[in-house]
Amino acid sequence: MDFSRRYPQVREILLERINPRRVILPMKMHYGVPCLPTVEVGSRVKAGQCVGMPAPHTFASPVHTGISGTVTAIETIKLPNGIETPAVFIENDMKRAVLESIVPRKTMNLTSHDAVGIIRAAGICGMGGEGIPTAAKISRARNYAVDDLLVNCLQSEPFATSDLMIVNEHSGYVVYGAAAVARACGAKNIKILISHRRKSELKMLEGSVERAARDFPDLNIEIKLFRDRFPQGYYRLVGKALYSVDMGPNDTLEGKCKAVMFNCATMYSCWAALADNMPLMERVVTVCAGADTHNVLAPIGTPVGELIATSTAPTTDKIIWGNCFTGIAIDNPEDTPIIKMTSAVTVVPKTEVPRTPCIHCGLCSETCPMSLSPNIVYEMLVQGLTQKAAEEGGRDCIACGTCSYICPAGIDLANKIALFASAGRVIEENSLLHNTKFDTGKFDIGEVSLLEEYPDEVKPDEKIPKDGLILPFKEGKPV
Ligand code: SF4
Ligand code: SF4
Repeated sequence: MDFSRRYPQVREILLERINPRRVILPMKMHYGVPCLPTVEVGSRVKAGQCVGMPAPHTFASPVHTGISGTVTAIETIKLPNGIETPAVFIENDMKRAVLESIVPRKTMNLTSHDAVGIIRAAGICGMGGEGIPTAAKISRARNYAVDDLLVNCLQSEPFATSDLMIVNEHSGYVVYGAAAVARACGAKNIKILISHRRKSELKMLEGSVERAARDFPDLNIEIKLFRDRFPQGYYRLVGKALYSVDMGPNDTLEGKCKAVMFNCATMYSCWAALADNMPLMERVVTVCAGADTHNVLAPIGTPVGELIATSTAPTTDKIIWGNCFTGIAIDNPEDTPIIKMTSAVTVVPKTEVPRTPCIHCGLCSETCPMSLSPNIVYEMLVQGLTQKAAEEGGRDCIACGTCSYICPAGIDLANKIALFASAGRVIEENSLLHNTKFDTGKFDIGEVSLLEEYPDEVKPDEKIPKDGLILPFKEGKPV
């Protein structure tokens, strides 16, 4: 599907920084189990402060506040994706007081072990949607001895441009972050994936790649151009496009292609953590609101309602947590926070789509990027034949939303099929979290065995060539 003709009035240049009245910080935004709050009701906090830490021996990622203020509540909330988690509520004192220790490093001379530790402590998770703690993903990539690190700049959803804005404004951070992470992973090649139509981002990337090539002479950095269509950046599609490998739902890029893929926003955040000591406490989000679509820089945990309020969209419209194709409609935008993986929030006019029975036009099957027959899978799910739906490949659905968009009968195929597929993944995640629960006194959280799949550490005594350990500059070059 070609969405290259994006809305002509998208305000891609202006980046407004939001200072919300409050933030709601879920202790679980990542793949894993919730963190434990490190603050209490009444605690005063500064921006950058850690308010949630993983319990010992658990697979989790620390949570930091992006505003200063007072903790007003710690309560369990339910996110639109079904995750129930404790959350820390912070009222903003509007002083924007930042933790004193957040100052840019003067020189850079870190080992891979140091770098992975900094990335872990900064609470960085995959910001493109999957939410795997980045330090753990690096460690797993090392175990697979990957050759390639892929930087996903293929934001292909209609209207969303948050990733592209990061590339445009901070291409140096994206490329240097990727170089640092490539060294930590042991990858020798960096492939930056971007649409051939993104001319201005390409220009910025080319300049940064040239500079990085001088500072990281051992790395082979190249830009790979992709067609501008939706969906594009899903790992199984990338595996097919770059390596001509057909990947099944249980295959990984690491195992099948000796490659690991990170989102460009994640790479930006890694360099911000390494160079500036900056934890992941804010992110760029596209407010998709028709003619008033724009990007904002918002603290993680900002209620969706405060982001929508930056647009002129009527508040009575339908509000979606995420993108119009892949997001989830919500009723309570004032109490629903953006999380580390939220790249867009969307407002769509409330219109009634005429609905008829399936007319067997075949359009959904023609356009499904996973080669499913959505009409058949949908019908099986309606009849409760889940086993048959799974055999038809229903679990492969990547929730792109194309089938619902294209269906002339107005049938919301994607919603049903994607829920079925994601339920399958939750079962899978729970089976990875197989160890028993333990009582922390406050919250019941699962003890984690994901560490078997994602070893959470690069051991300092690993036999890595000495050069591969220095990150990123010998003798501590000024940043
Ligand atoms: S939402 Fe799922 S079934 Fe529908 S087109 Fe996308 S991948 Fe195919
Ligand atoms: S696109 Fe809609 S009408 Fe056409 S086959 Fe699929 S479900 Fe039926």
